[in-house]
Amino acid sequence: MSAAPTLNPAPAAPDAQAPLLVADDLSRHYRVSRGLFQPQATVRALNGVSFTLQRGRTLGVVGESGCGKSTLARALTLVEAPTAGRLQIAGTEVTTADAARRRWLRTQVQMVFQNPYGSLNPRKRIAQMLDEPLKLNTPLTAAERQERVLRMLETVGLRAEHAQRYPHMFSGGQRQRIAIARALMLSPPLLVADEPTSALDVSVQAQILNLLRDLQRERQLGYVFISHNLGVIEHLADEVMVMYLGRVVERAPKAALFARPLHPYSQVLWAAVPRLDGARRVVAPAADLTPPSALRSEPPSPLNLPPGCAFHQRCPLADARCRAELPALRPAGAAGQWVACHRVEEG
Ligand code: SF4
Repeated sequence: MSAAPTLNPAPAAPDAQAPLLVADDLSRHYRVSRGLFQPQATVRALNGVSFTLQRGRTLGVVGESGCGKSTLARALTLVEAPTAGRLQIAGTEVTTADAARRRWLRTQVQMVFQNPYGSLNPRKRIAQMLDEPLKLNTPLTAAERQERVLRMLETVGLRAEHAQRYPHMFSGGQRQRIAIARALMLSPPLLVADEPTSALDVSVQAQILNLLRDLQRERQLGYVFISHNLGVIEHLADEVMVMYLGRVVERAPKAALFARPLHPYSQVLWAAVPRLDGARRVVAPAADLTPPSALRSEPPSPLNLPPGCAFHQRCPLADARCRAELPALRPAGAAGQWVACHRVEEG
């Protein structure tokens, strides 16, 4: 395995003992226009999200589209600043970092996108794309950089002769390998992967997931892995966070959540996952709750969230308290689960 390249300018040594990622009450709100002569509205795309990720571990993030997964990814990769809350990467506070430190932080977290066709510049050779981050951020010579590029190609399962080819000359799986190689050129400790296998054939998906898992073991990488595919999450995640309309409704170790999701929304998601024999999973209900078999309606507009629990209009277990009071995320059960649901809390 190659040593991490020296970054230029060199930052103060990061705290190796600190958790890789700490999000504390992280929020991202947008002001949007409702139309002429209408007051602006606020979209709470991300609302009070907290979690900790250690090195070498994977946090899986699941939820329907519009639940805040991609907003979270943009906040974690410093593409967008949070409107409230704190974010720490490798022990360094992001929200108060000066420009030099933010430049360094951007090298510590890299993104792997869903679409390997769109995320690579079609006019650049692979060698050029992999060389760019080294050229911009390290004092390495051209020969040293070339050596690192070739070594990285080998690491992700490609060959030296691929270096001089263009992206269109590769299959989808190979392009995702190139995207992963590019993300790893500066040896970041943290990767945020947004549906990285959903555009690939099923057989290729498994190869990419195995590559990510091997790289994680070799390099102690931390992953935030966003996917709507619970099979993929089960394969890779250590802990799972279920999001609904910008909030975390359940967070738990993978084994506990896959054995017994507690939040009614998680129960719906898990009940929809087919087993290998084609049947649906049977979800054990929390306490005396009857698991909702299907969602009753579409989610409410993020522009006009209902009071109380944002899930109450779709939840068959909703009562008056649910319609009035926002449930807090609290520990539930002995398996390390955290759930935001009045009925689970009462049960
Ligand atoms: Fe359903 Fe109420 Fe729990 Fe929300 S708080 S998920 S509405 S039971």
